[in-house]
This record gives sequence, structure tokens and C-alpha cells, in this order.
Amino acid sequence: MEAGRFVRLILTPMRVLEKIGEMREASRACRRNGGRVGLVPTMGALHEGHLSLVRAARAKCDTVAVSIFVNPTQFGPREDFSQYPRTFDRDCELLRGENVDLVFAPAVQEIYPAQPGSAGQQRAAVPAYSTWIEVAALTDRLDGKSRPGHFRGVATVVAKLFHIVEPDVAFFGQKDAAQLLIIRRMVRDLNFPIEVVGCPIVREPDGLAMSSRNAYLSSEERKLALLLNRSLREVEQAFRAGEHRIDALIRIGSDAFSLQPAVRLDYFEIVNPETLEPPAQAERSLVAVAAYVGTTRLIDNLLLEK
Ligand code: AMP
Repeated sequence: MEAGRFVRLILTPMRVLEKIGEMREASRACRRNGGRVGLVPTMGALHEGHLSLVRAARAKCDTVAVSIFVNPTQFGPREDFSQYPRTFDRDCELLRGENVDLVFAPAVQEIYPAQPGSAGQQRAAVPAYSTWIEVAALTDRLDGKSRPGHFRGVATVVAKLFHIVEPDVAFFGQKDAAQLLIIRRMVRDLNFPIEVVGCPIVREPDGLAMSSRNAYLSSEERKLALLLNRSLREVEQAFRAGEHRIDALIRIGSDAFSLQPAVRLDYFEIVNPETLEPPAQAERSLVAVAAYVGTTRLIDNLLLEK
């Protein structure tokens, strides 16, 4: 083991912080000593996909902070906010194993304080809160189209986490491709002094993209869920075989779902990977899919490159 890491393990056990002031102070203390702070925002229920982001942060930064916050404002009223898996103790064990320094795990009221006299903040609407980040043009594409308000909630909470943690670098997964793009655009437009690092999708051995929501799947649904990745691979194969017409490629991807009525396709799209607009050509485009397997909504994507 490298000596610096050994010393850190002995001297600084992972701290779990719930308050904004404590988190900000811990991060500033690192920066005062000339250290670089890396932030990995998550909603918990951690898996290898999250841990790949943590490892990327560990490799690049002196202090690694991971936030665990199931953000109510990115869930629609009929979505799974209250059922979303919460495995906090296990998450902390995993993060300790990755030598994480700081876990920021605020209560909902810490991030969205209730107005005096208002009811609890557990609902998705958060009525006492009124400032939002809207990344125009991008927030109504892909998942933003099927989940109105979703990316507004994501951009807002990430902006808040950036102000609280003040990281030098922030790590996001390519699994949520539109989210990564929206965060990059927000950072550029609002001049956050933060480097955004995108990390590749981590998959199960059979190709299923890892997701906290995979925990919802029955064993039968788990098999059906493979259809998302398979549809992307079929498009990639056709592309490699010379099919470069966008509408034909979209048809190939969506047709994979017509044979399996137990999986309901939400969207199958091919877009420009920077603008999420229809692409001029298939080369360097993003193929993105979302589908309901039973009641569980899953997403996946791949980049088509020459
Ligand atoms: P979540 O907890 O789902 O909000 O995800 C937190 C971060 O982990 C986001 O930046 C996701 O894109 C990323 N992430 C989730 N699943 C994966 C995966 N399978 N591979 C890589 N990154 C992922």
C-alpha cells in the first residue's frame, strides 16, 4: 500500500456529516492545506457503478466526498421517491472500503428547509422552496421529456451540492448521459470553478447497466431487463455493418421491444451527444433507451463512433 494512503487510513476515519455548515467546513479545511476536493453525488443504494466514480475521485483528489441524498425534487408525484432503496449502513461500509474521507448525508429539511408552519417536505413538490436551475433546451430531452421537471430537480440539487461542498472536481456516470451533459452545461454557463469528469457505464457480466433500481426487479424481470442493452448492441451491429440511416437504426432498436410485450418502451432515440438534438449523421451519435420492465423504469445508452 502506498504510504500516504496508509497514513490517511490510520489517521482519518471516514466522517459522516449531516449539516451543510459541517460539510462546507470539512471541505474548506482540505483546501486550506492545498488539497483537491472531489465530489461524487449519489442517491445511495450504492453499487459498482457508483464505486467506479469513487475510485476515479480517489485517484485524482486528496479528499473524496460522497453525497448520499435521495433528492425529492427530481421525482415526479407518481414516481418512486418513497420506495427508492435506502441502504445507508451498507453504503457507508462500501465507502469506508474505498477509503472515502467525507460522506454528506443531509436530511431533506437540511437541503429544502420547510417554511414555518408548512407540512413536512417529504413530497416531491417542496412548496417552500422557490429557486430553480433550468438548463434551457436540454432539460426537456430524453428523460426530461418523459419525466417533466426531473432535470430541473437534478440541476438544482447538484448546484446546491456544488455550493455546499465546493469541490475542485465532480464525478458523474455516462449511464445518465443527459444528466452529465446538463451538469457540464450548467457548470459552463454559471461559471462554477469545477472540473466535471464523466465515467464509463459499469455493467453486470451479462451486459445489464448497473442501477440502484435493478433491486426492484424479480428474477423474471431481471432477464427481461437485458433487452435494453441488447437493443443498443443490435443498433451498434447494424451501424458497423454499414447502416447509417438514423430512422432505420431507430427502427432496429425499437423493433427489439415489439417482440417482448412485457417490456414497455418509453423512448428509443438517436441524438447528437452534445445537444441531444436529432443528429446530422449517425457517426458520433448517442443511442439512448428507456423502458419499463414491469413497473421499473430503466435506462441505458451507448455512443456510436466510427
Ligand atoms: P444515482 O445514485 O443513481 O443518482 O447515481 C449517482 C451517480 O452514479 C450518477 O453520476 C450516475 O450516472 C452514476 N452511475 C449510476 N449507475 C452507474 C453505472 N452503472 N455506471 C457508471 N456510473 C453510474
